[in-house]
Amino acid sequence: MLYSFREQYESNLTIKPFDATTMDKAAEKFVVDLMRHGATLLKEPCPKCGGIMVRYKGKDICPVDSGVSSIQELDALTRPVSAAIDDAISASKAKLEQLTKQLGEEKDPAKLGVIIDDISRLTDLIAKLEKQPSK
Ligand SMILES: [Zn+2]
Repeated sequence: MLYSFREQYESNLTIKPFDATTMDKAAEKFVVDLMRHGATLLKEPCPKCGGIMVRYKGKDICPVDSGVSSIQELDALTRPVSAAIDDAISASKAKLEQLTKQLGEEKDPAKLGVIIDDISRLTDLIAKLEKQPSK
């Protein structure tokens, strides 16, 4: 489906600027979808195929070489990582609340030390997770 888009660009001796009329319908829809979801058109053509490139969620994507043909597929590729990080953050925060409660109730100094260490490690972990670039 996307092949005719690629072939059109490869058959051109000079790189043409973005022109929706020369694009395959599927590729055109994909680009329109990307733009609608905040993608921006890049000035530089794709180094592989010479076609247009867009920047979407901080990544440069060639609609032809990306290997995907819809925004849903593209999002599905990026979602698992950030979803897993979100899960890890909420699990860590829930555990942190438990530990904070224990800290207030614990009288044994040895156990208090352990709880404090755990809280310290957990807050470090949450800070790291929240700094992930995919967030
Ligand atoms: Zn390309």
